Amino acid sequence: MKRIILEVLLVLGLAGAGYFGWTQRAGYEALQPQVTELTEKVDESTKALETAEEELAKVQEALKAAQPATAELSAVKAGFENGDVLKDLEGLYAKQKNLSAERQLGLALVRMLTKGSEDPATVEALQKTLDQVDWKNKQKVICAAQNALAAAGKEVKVLAECFVPPAKPADDKKAKDEKAEEPGKDEKAGDKHAHAPHWDYEGAMGPDNWGKEFPTCAKGQSQAPLNIKGPFAKALYKLAPDYKPGPLTIVNNGHTIQVTVPPGSKLRVDSKPYDLVQFHFHRPSEEQLDGKPMDMVIHFVHKNDAGELVVLGVLIKAGNENPGIKTLWTHAPAKEGPPVSPSGVVFNPANLLPRELDYFSYEGSLTTPPCTEKVRFFILKSTVNMSPAQISDFPFKMNARPVQPLNKRVIESN
Ligand SMILES: [Zn+2]
Repeated sequence: MKRIILEVLLVLGLAGAGYFGWTQRAGYEALQPQVTELTEKVDESTKALETAEEELAKVQEALKAAQPATAELSAVKAGFENGDVLKDLEGLYAKQKNLSAERQLGLALVRMLTKGSEDPATVEALQKTLDQVDWKNKQKVICAAQNALAAAGKEVKVLAECFVPPAKPADDKKAKDEKAEEPGKDEKAGDKHAHAPHWDYEGAMGPDNWGKEFPTCAKGQSQAPLNIKGPFAKALYKLAPDYKPGPLTIVNNGHTIQVTVPPGSKLRVDSKPYDLVQFHFHRPSEEQLDGKPMDMVIHFVHKNDAGELVVLGVLIKAGNENPGIKTLWTHAPAKEGPPVSPSGVVFNPANLLPRELDYFSYEGSLTTPPCTEKVRFFILKSTVNMSPAQISDFPFKMNARPVQPLNKRVIESN
């Protein structure tokens, strides 16, 4: 079409030019270049058209070649839709007594493609896959099945195992609620730590998503940690730590290194005694000072008879080697597992405190799920040192919850 129009234009142009030349003898000499130009234009357009035609032919050829494949794809789709594939596969596997987890999963996935993710049998088949899996060695199968279930919008029993390989199956929903930095519940830590974590510091189980399983983490109005900055209110609490040496019990619980403190160590707040239950570490410090975290922090967790919690935070700066940390790191398990109590090792938590006890204070929460509130924090202004090597030897690269909104709170300072 384009070609015809151009040809018409050329004829008209020639005619026009001819007429012009005929009526204006003086313009005759100008006629030749105009004709040449128009001819060139037509040539160019013809070339472009030819190229386009060639390309179109190629596409048509490719389409022809693709037709069998398209038909095949339709057949596959139809196979799923009418259930033939599922039937074939079920028929094939029916003869096998013990279906491997992979095949069970394959079957479940085919069922999902056939019947859709809402089909109860699909969900059941996927769940069956989970149930029969050899937990230690079939991580990929578990995760695939879990992800398929999750994609189908189903509640999945043990999603967290996709992130950290478990020592044994973990489906005790209660255990996860107990497993926090909440003190007093760690005495029974032995079997509990075999369970996989249900939260993490990154990814799908990271702090942004804690609220899905632990509502207080998202809805709480006085969550910790905080970015510590002024204006401050005047703090009036008097702090008097009275920590005693005792046999060392230390655990890697998958989230931190934690020392369980035997009875006897206390922190007095205005002469009100709180028992030191445990202390643990975060890297970097969870608390920030004017928007900046320190290298690490130690949280000393205390509880009184009424169950009220007080956390004393000691910020850590890279510097000289810390002899107290040297003892702890010697015995701290590198991998998650049960607590260890090396025989004859005595530790005094007082060795980790700075001399000066000036502090910032605020009402906060546990900084790990379930993020329980009404925890009084005292963050000491004086820091203690750990050597850069000691800091990098801490087995958790990042185990700090991001700072939380201040909301209506005012940070106090003494
Ligand atoms: Zn902590």
